[in-house]
Amino acid sequence: MNNVFVYCEIEEGQVADVSLELLTKGRKLADDLKCELEAIVIGHELKGVEKQVMPFGVDKVWIADDKRLYPYTTLPHTSILVKLFEEEKPQIALMGATSIGRDLGPRVSSALHSGLTADCTSLVIGDHEDKKNKKEYKDLLYQIRPAFGGNIVATIINPDCRPQMATVREGVMKKEIVSDAYKGKVKNIDVEKYVKPEDFVIKVIERHMEKSKVNIKNAGIIVAGGYGVGSKENFALLTELAEVIGGEVGASRAAVDAGFASHERQIGQTGVTVRPKLYIACGISGQIQHTAGMEESAMVIAINTDKNAPINAFADYVITGDIATVLPKMIKQYKENTK
Ligand code: FAD
Repeated sequence: MNNVFVYCEIEEGQVADVSLELLTKGRKLADDLKCELEAIVIGHELKGVEKQVMPFGVDKVWIADDKRLYPYTTLPHTSILVKLFEEEKPQIALMGATSIGRDLGPRVSSALHSGLTADCTSLVIGDHEDKKNKKEYKDLLYQIRPAFGGNIVATIINPDCRPQMATVREGVMKKEIVSDAYKGKVKNIDVEKYVKPEDFVIKVIERHMEKSKVNIKNAGIIVAGGYGVGSKENFALLTELAEVIGGEVGASRAAVDAGFASHERQIGQTGVTVRPKLYIACGISGQIQHTAGMEESAMVIAINTDKNAPINAFADYVITGDIATVLPKMIKQYKENTK
């Protein structure tokens, strides 16, 4: 009872990365709360799916396997989660801030009157003192996320209702296996008892999956460009450098808004979160909404005409200069010195 639950998304038999990241965070929260971590997988042909999640420290996996449950539709997944949460009374329930999580989370929290914090960037356990009502709360979930256009970082708590629900975007949390040998229990959900016939009024007739060729999330090296790059044509310099050093091209929102790069390359609060070994920030000022998506890069090189640009405070190496002169030199040097 009162465990930490993670709803796991599944696509073509694979548990989504965001769900595995949430299991990693869920394990940490469960350890802090001295309770168990439980995963829920809803879909079809899920035989053996527990092997994908248990290594992340899952103590119990709830599996709802039925032809009608894949691909995802709102109503049956909502019915299963609502009933399961009413029975099991989790203290915390997490899901990805994906199209599915953003559809499912509010429905479940609304049915349970629990509240939900969307797009959290951090989740930790802490206490709270309500001085006005002279009440003390122990072991609440601090749901931390940027608010008011990113100008403040808000810590949101839900002292009274359960579960404490939060969504988190892909890439924000780390994904870490506890042990390949971690053993949890499997509980099969009797689907008929959890859904109603009217939950299946919507039928998915056809699906078309657009697969992106851009993979900045897992790139070891990122050459990212900002508004200071100046034009789409100038971005070609970044592409050339990225090709020479085996990296991917990323962008700030200002660069994306200006049409220099596509949205899928945007890094930051409303883009992708990355953790490359090397991040080369070209003509990027380093506003908090951008750095939120790259601050865990192992090494940062900033190239900027402004020696006082905020990105320089993050950078391990600062090159003060115009990208139009610095980048060709870097490309030339790498070409000459790389075997
Ligand atoms: P600027 O701030 O205009 O900086 C350009 C930099 O280029 C300057 O430092 C300048 O000195 C330098 N420069 C100019 N010319 C050259 C040159 N020739 N050579 C070298 N350097 C040069 N931003 C994101 O990036 N990602 C997000 O996900 C994101 N989400 C947001 C969400 C919200 C709710 C809000 C309100 C904002 C968000 N933003 C985001 C926008 C963010 O606040 C900044 O506006 C944006 O990051 C600025 O982009 P930039 O650094 O490329 O441009």
